[in-house]
Amino acid sequence: MFLPNLQDFKRIVIKVGSSLLVDSKRGAARREWLHGLVDDLAELHRGGADILVVSSGAIALGRSVLGLPKGALKLEDSQAAASVGQIALSRIWAEAFAQRGIIAGQILVTWQDTEERRHYLNARETISRLLALRAAPVINENDTVATAEIRYGDNDRLAARVATMASADLLILLSDITGLFDAPPAKNPDAKLIPMVPRISAEIEAMAGGAASELSRGGMQTKIEAGKIATSGGAHMVIADGRQPNPVGRIARGEPCTWFLTPSTPVTARKKWIAGSLAPQGVVTIDDGAARALASGASLLPAGVTAVEGDFSRGDSVIVRDAHGGEVGRGLVGYDVAMAHKVIGRSSRHIADELGVEGRFEMIHRDNLVLAGDLTE
Ligand code: GLU
Repeated sequence: MFLPNLQDFKRIVIKVGSSLLVDSKRGAARREWLHGLVDDLAELHRGGADILVVSSGAIALGRSVLGLPKGALKLEDSQAAASVGQIALSRIWAEAFAQRGIIAGQILVTWQDTEERRHYLNARETISRLLALRAAPVINENDTVATAEIRYGDNDRLAARVATMASADLLILLSDITGLFDAPPAKNPDAKLIPMVPRISAEIEAMAGGAASELSRGGMQTKIEAGKIATSGGAHMVIADGRQPNPVGRIARGEPCTWFLTPSTPVTARKKWIAGSLAPQGVVTIDDGAARALASGASLLPAGVTAVEGDFSRGDSVIVRDAHGGEVGRGLVGYDVAMAHKVIGRSSRHIADELGVEGRFEMIHRDNLVLAGDLTE
């Protein structure tokens, strides 16, 4: 049986569906269940893993408070419901984590925050700072402002984007289905659970059908879409039935579920993306000292840059060249071109004191830098 050890993962995103968290009859949260789950998460956190939660439930909680009718809601009603329900949702998570000594942080993201480069970098930096402080980000779509054309609408794909954005190595989708079956289980008593999917093929996609329950928007199809995003971004993904107490502990013990494996690690997936998928918008030339520092794994600081060319914005891909014109690597630049001209050759202290830039000084952070030769190893 395929049974990875959950303790081996360093950064885990757990997506919790509305149907698990909210009792649809009462329109209230299932607190006891939630506390069991947070026990599981606290154990992983104690073991050193970073924990991120993508939680649905805002609309389901808010609609009952507002007395909105059952069934599909109009967009403006679901936004109103999300606005009311998100307050309760965050409080429930924050309290459950706090009782186990973990600080929770709320992050509400829109489609732009995960898909547009500048927004993406900001969201990514906030997440990484929270994790460095050992806090657990609790994330949901910002339903109150997301418009119909550009919203995820389902937290499966959102969670997968969060996993790639945070360079997570595991995404757990907890829902009210056991996993992927070779035929829709509701119609087919002989349907068999597929315990492990090494690669999402056309055949696997065909098995997904379209099963969604009343509260959860994402059926198996959106879970497979999520699987494609997560596994190509370097995270394994597991779909499991979360309805029983301590659902993550159950995955660890090998209860039935479906694992989707990633062919690459988050770092190589991200590096491939930086090196291969983005058209460079400029060139950054560095001195010999900076070239040596980069080779030993450091970030590129403005002090080591001698020239910048091109018309780039913060977050664009740029080519890094050494003093002799040789390509050292490529990376995502930390400044717009106008600001880059002002900071090159300057120390971080000067940049802070004279130019009033706060916080992040790197021209290219090492996580956003791929050295020539990195990918051929
Ligand atoms: N963002 C929605 C909510 O919090 C949930 C979307 C989903 O169920 O996937 O209610």
